[in-house]
Amino acid sequence: DVFVGYLFGRTKATEVAHVIQKGDIVVDATCGNGNDTLAMLKMVTDDSDGYGGHVYALDIQKDAIESTSSLLDQTLGSKEKERVKLFNICHSKMEEIVPENSRVRMVAFNLGYLPGGNKSIITVSDTTLSALKAAERVLMPGGLISLVVYIGHPGGREELDVVEAFASGLPVSDWVCCKFQMLNRPLAPVPVFMFKREK
Ligand code: SAM
Repeated sequence: DVFVGYLFGRTKATEVAHVIQKGDIVVDATCGNGNDTLAMLKMVTDDSDGYGGHVYALDIQKDAIESTSSLLDQTLGSKEKERVKLFNICHSKMEEIVPENSRVRMVAFNLGYLPGGNKSIITVSDTTLSALKAAERVLMPGGLISLVVYIGHPGGREELDVVEAFASGLPVSDWVCCKFQMLNRPLAPVPVFMFKREK
C-alpha cells in the first residue's frame, strides 16, 4: 500500500504517510523551494500536542536554502521551524549532518534543477549515487528512500540509469524497490522510485 499512492506522480503527504510516523527523523536531500520539506515536517509533527521529529533539509544551492527558509517562515511558528535543520551542503555528505546512530525513516530526493532558479545547477550522477549509498547507510529498517527523476535535461538519462542500477543491486532479502512512471509521456515520464528497507 505504500506504493499505490505514487501511481500518478510526485511526493505527497498522503502517499508516504504509511511509512513516516510522528517523532521520526527524515531527510529532504534536495530541499529546493521547501515544498517537500514542509510536507515532511507535517508528517513527523503531531499538531494536537506539538510532539514531533525533525527534518534535515539539504541543498547545494544557497538560493534554495533561502527559499526553503522563507517558505518555512511564512508557514510555521518559531517552535515548529526549529524542527527543520537546513544545510547548504551536497547530499552525498548527509552522514556529516544527521546525528550519529539516529534512526532515519525516510530520505527523499527530487532530482534535477531548482524550479524558477539557476537551471545549470542540477543533480549529477556521481553525487546522486554517493548520496544514495549514504541514504542506504543511514536508513532504519522499515524506512523508505524516494526519488523523483527528470530526464529532459542534459545528464538526466544517465542519472536515471544510475538510480536504476543502484536499486537493482540492493539485496532482495532486505529491500523492496519499485518504479512508477507515466507510460503515455515517453519524453517526460517523470519516474518515481521507492526503495523500502525491510530489514
Ligand atoms: N523538492 C524541492 C521542492 O519541493 O521545491 C525541489 C527540488 S529541485 C527539483 C532539485 C534541487 O536539488 C535544486 O534545488 C538543486 O539545487 C538541488 N541539488 C542539486 N545538486 C545537489 C546536490 N549535490 N546536493 C543537494 N542538492 C542538490
